[in-house]
Amino acid sequence: MAPAPQINTVSGPLDATALGKTLGHEHLRFRDDAVAANWPSRYDPAAELRAAVDAVGVAMAHGVRTIVDPTAMNAGRDVRFLARVAELTGVQIVACTGIYTFDRLPFYFENRSVDVMADHFAEDVEQGIQGTDVRAAFIKVAADEPGITPGVEKVHRAAARAALRTGVPIMAHSAPAVDNGPRQVQLLLEEGVDPAHVQICHYGDTTDVDQIERLLELGVYVGLDRFGSPRPPFTAARIDVAAELLRRGRGDRLVVSHDFCATIDWFPPETMEAIVREGESNPYGMGLVFERVVPALLEAGALDDAALQRLFADNPRNWLTGAQRT
Ligand SMILES: [Zn+2]
Repeated sequence: MAPAPQINTVSGPLDATALGKTLGHEHLRFRDDAVAANWPSRYDPAAELRAAVDAVGVAMAHGVRTIVDPTAMNAGRDVRFLARVAELTGVQIVACTGIYTFDRLPFYFENRSVDVMADHFAEDVEQGIQGTDVRAAFIKVAADEPGITPGVEKVHRAAARAALRTGVPIMAHSAPAVDNGPRQVQLLLEEGVDPAHVQICHYGDTTDVDQIERLLELGVYVGLDRFGSPRPPFTAARIDVAAELLRRGRGDRLVVSHDFCATIDWFPPETMEAIVREGESNPYGMGLVFERVVPALLEAGALDDAALQRLFADNPRNWLTGAQRT
């Protein structure tokens, strides 16, 4: 039997079989790299660390062994922070390389080629991130309301080339409101990437199940990964979408998670409170899918033990290793 593929975590490489119960999309800290570097006094490192450790503790109380954290450049990627959380909690954290932008690139990358950008991503996978020996396990890209801008296209092509070179998969932030998913997949496939090595995020932000199914038909993994978001669709509607996809036999390509940010600097506290007040609160943090979603799906007859195992272990593992449908 061939040895199990190895997955890079912030604590070192791990047999893919040891990933166990996995949350496929969570952020242990989300903040702007440039602001945090220039005005560090606006941030409270002890509070950030505490929030991350607490968030992970909630997930671990539900048996979670591994968290995939797709915090890339522009979202405050910091593998030393992730390694510290892993050390304090014992959770296995899978980190990424890549660039989180909806539009423009820094001049540094705008004035360099796709292949030079790919070299940067590959270096993180093959040598280590930010001067450490922590290696990236996947590449993060993004496209949102502005669509596939030249900057966004460049990141996708560079990610594809680095993925082909290194063998790691790609995770793509997306926006079903403008249906970027199929165009993102097309770009990656044009570069030669296997769709089984691609995950398109945030399609649980639509309640149009046919739209999600059209994306799944391209052979990619799709994230229903914003359970607990304060913004609609709310949890009950997201559960209905998941139940319908499971009924349609799509459970082998779904990644269920929260896109929870233990801390995030995007909004002043009063704005954040207003967003939650006008929307829906999530009292369970990284435990919501286990507290509310799984019980509801079981109740609806949309899940059994094998399907649960697929959602929270097999699918994230198979996406990470590029394993074909089993
Ligand atoms: Zn995210």
